[in-house]
Formats: sequence, C-alpha cells, structure tokens
Amino acid sequence: MDTRYIFVTGGVTSSLGKGILASSLAKLLQARGYSVTIQKLDPYINVDPGTLNPYEHGECFVTDDGAETDLDLGHYERFLNIPTSQANNITTGRIYQTVISKERRGDYLGKTVQIIPHITDEIKRRIKLLGSKGKYDIVITEIGGTVGDIESLPYIETVRQLKWELGNKALVIHLTLVPFLSASGELKTKPTQHSVKQLLENGVQPDVLVLRTEHHIDENIRAKVALFTNVAIEAVVQSIDVPSIYEVPLKMLEEKLDVTVLKKLDLPVTDTTDLGAWNEFLSRLKNPEHTVNIALVGKYVELRDAYKSIAEALIHAGAANNTKVNIKWVHSETINPSSLEKKLANMHGILVAPGFGNRGIQGKILATRFARENNIPFFGICLGMQIAVVEFARNVLGLEGADSTEMEPLTPHPVIDLMNQQKEVIDLGGTMRLGAFDCRLIARKSNVFNAYNTLTIRERHRHRYEFNNFYLHQFEKAGMKAVGVNPETDLVEIIEIPAHRWFVGVQFHPEYRSTVLNPHPLFVDFIKNALV
Ligand code: GLN
Repeated sequence: MDTRYIFVTGGVTSSLGKGILASSLAKLLQARGYSVTIQKLDPYINVDPGTLNPYEHGECFVTDDGAETDLDLGHYERFLNIPTSQANNITTGRIYQTVISKERRGDYLGKTVQIIPHITDEIKRRIKLLGSKGKYDIVITEIGGTVGDIESLPYIETVRQLKWELGNKALVIHLTLVPFLSASGELKTKPTQHSVKQLLENGVQPDVLVLRTEHHIDENIRAKVALFTNVAIEAVVQSIDVPSIYEVPLKMLEEKLDVTVLKKLDLPVTDTTDLGAWNEFLSRLKNPEHTVNIALVGKYVELRDAYKSIAEALIHAGAANNTKVNIKWVHSETINPSSLEKKLANMHGILVAPGFGNRGIQGKILATRFARENNIPFFGICLGMQIAVVEFARNVLGLEGADSTEMEPLTPHPVIDLMNQQKEVIDLGGTMRLGAFDCRLIARKSNVFNAYNTLTIRERHRHRYEFNNFYLHQFEKAGMKAVGVNPETDLVEIIEIPAHRWFVGVQFHPEYRSTVLNPHPLFVDFIKNALV
C-alpha cells in the first residue's frame, strides 16, 4: 500500500504535547495493525541537539545508530516499542548543511539556490525517505515550534506542497490550546481560531483539530470551532489533561481520533484494537501496592526534562514491580557534608545521573559514598558510574586525588581517562562514542546477570571518558568488579560491588531502551532491590 503521511503542527503556545499526541495516535494506529513511525522536524540551526545544554532543550536522546536527537524520540520509542534512527530527527541545520554541501559540489550548477524549492525539496526528501522503504504504512511527522514562528515557515510550506501532491494520502492535525478563564468560568476558542487562520495564511487547511484543555469541551464549543475553521465537527477533538501521559492514547481512543484519521486517509478501520498489554501496564501504574523513594542526584534537576528518559524508565520499572516510585530530585550542588544525611534520609535507592563537567561533582561523590557505606541500592549511569569509580579509588583504595581527567587533567590517579580514539577529536558535535555497542557480562553471579539473564547485551552510549584498565586489578582486589566489558576493546561497561546489596554503575545509558511494554531489566531490578 502507499505510505500515508500525517503532519502534526502546534498553535497558540509551545509545550502543548505534540510529541505525546503523535505518540498516542501512533500507538492507536499500531494497535489496529498498522506499522507506524514518527519523525520530528526541529526548526533550529544546530545540526543536532548534541551540543545543546539540557537547560535549553531538555535531555538529548540517543538512538541505536548513534544519533543525538530531540527528547520526543524517547516518547516515540516508549509508546511504540520500536527503535527510531537518525532519519527520525531532522533539524534546519542538517537540511541547510546538506543543501550547502550540494551547492559546493556543483549539484545546482547555474541555479540560484533558494528556500523554495531547494530547502523545501530537501525537507520533502527527508520526510519521504522514511516512507520509501516500504517498512511503514504511516509516517507521522511532528513539526517542532509553533505556527507563526519565522523558523517554522519552510516546514509549513513543505507541508502545503506535500498535501497538494499527495491528496488524501496526507493529512494535517493541528494541536492548539483552549484556555479556561476562571474569572468568567469560560473556555475560550479565539486563540484556536487565530492559530488556524495563521495556518490558512500559509496555505494549509488542517484536517483535524486537537484542543488541549483543562475542562470538558462540549458540543457547542466544538461546533463553533468547526464553523470558524472549516474542519468537520467529528474531527474537532479534545485532549483533556490527565495524570499520566500514558493515559493519553485511551483519551484519544474515546475521541475516535484514530478512526477519523483512518477514514480521512482512506484506510480500512480494522475493528480490533489491541491495547491489552498497555492497559495492564496502566492498571499496575494506577494501583500500586508498594512505594519506594528514589533520590535522583543531578545538576540539572530544576529542569525535569533534562532527565526525561530516566524518570520514565523509573515509572516503567515501578509498574513492573507494582510500585509507585517517588522521585526525590536532589540538586548535586546542594549536597555537602552537613546537608548530606538530611537530603538522602528515607531514600530506598540512590541514582546518580549522567552529566558533563565539574559543576556539582562533589555532591555526587558524597551521595555515592553515602549509598556505598550505608548499603543503600545505588545506580550510577554514565558519569554516575565514573563517579562511583572515583569515589572508590579515593575512599577505599586510598588513591589520594584520584579523579577523572575530565574534571582534573593533572590528577595523579586518572582512574577515568579519555578514550584513545577521542584524543584526536577536535570538533565537539557528534564525535562522542555514540550509539549501541555489545557488552559481555563476565560473571553469572552478579546483580546485572540476574537482571538481564543473558550474557551478551547491547546498550546505547554517549561518552568520551572510560574506566582506566591500568587500575582494574586494584579495584577488583578491593571489591569493585568489572562485570561487563566491551568484547572488542575490553572497555569496562559495568561495575559492581558484590559485597553490597545492589551497587551497579553502567557506562551506557539503559534509560534510552526502557519502554512501556519492555521496562529495562536494570531499572526493574534496581526498584525490586530498593523495595527489599
Ligand atoms: N562526561 C562523561 C564522559 O564524557 C560522562 C558522559 C555522560 O554521562 N553521558 O565520558
């Protein structure tokens, strides 16, 4: 069958949840037997978000093929349970980079290179690429930003062209906000009317409107919106606030968003919706039998989006254990010897987050020591594992001044050091050790083997520094073991302290692989052990 294309645009404000809407619709279409993927087009000039500070743009998500991407790709994977790739996240920077290199090669010889058609053609090519392999029945493309932004214009123009070209094989869903004025007790539709007008000015008629709201939107309001926007009333749907993002697919099912979309795309509306496993997850999520408190120690905790995948992986693992996970967000810069005990009191587990650079390092080291000495389950991820190594070197091996050369290039004991292949690197964009690599588990008698129950695993990475194998023997003798290594390079991927209840540090990022239907085994085991 011909691939169908769905575009999701946003109006009125940013942060309305286009990614969650796209993921929820994709989930419903998948549940009806369609193969679906989602792509995000980001209107900024960076080639990818890899060099962006998390304060700017939240977490940087990493795919199997080593793309550093927008965090919405994490939602796509968590909802759909299928991996995404480089092709699923395109930025304006990447589009321009391609067009400008082609221009330098002489591909456009004799022509003036312009936004229309050259930039829009390249956007179109990248959208269609996902559909061209015959792998997907439906490609959903989320356009980042808000309609009316200067940056989004070439994308909206591309949507206009594609709608014209593809006819009923393409449709546009516009997500807007219907604010509630508490003073007058009214829901207001004017911002939505204006936002649709803006789209119309750019030549795009939306086919479906999704209205984000805090209160139920009745038939009268829907009729009014439909009248002003040339959208059929059954295609005006509400997206009411819910406690968990994982409930949004069910809300969209109630609104028959999937049925409306399939009809408009001329696709059969299969009558079974397979959401069994999803519903089971939701029921465990909503009816927990236990509670655990997990401290998430990081330096970006003011912005929760900086640790999106970790927070979601904890939710998945909690549900798998019928447990509500209370995350206590602990700012590593606020941890010092006198605040330590208070900050970490009543915690059943301590997770030290990934990160870069010196800020907040001392607090992370103190939290790690506290977990080690008090036999509290500890999970160190990427920088978190490196911190565990530094802490052990200083306080157990007695290697004074031991450090990562990222923090202290002149340390006498570089227990964490720059990887050899990183020493030549000059450009900072896209040059870390990125993407999925194999890891061999060494011992069957380890917490990680218990969790994975297999000897070869594959996990995603994003780092430049590694465990310095020169010190391995000393660590192992003193009770910190390398229990997972890369089979080709012997790079230490996982450390454990067998004498401790559950003390695991991983050089990779397990959180990127956790999905609703496949909660990550390490997170599940961490929560299980925190519960004991
Ligand atoms: N800064 C460390 C490194 O580059 C850890 C990176 C991370 O936590 N993702 O190796």
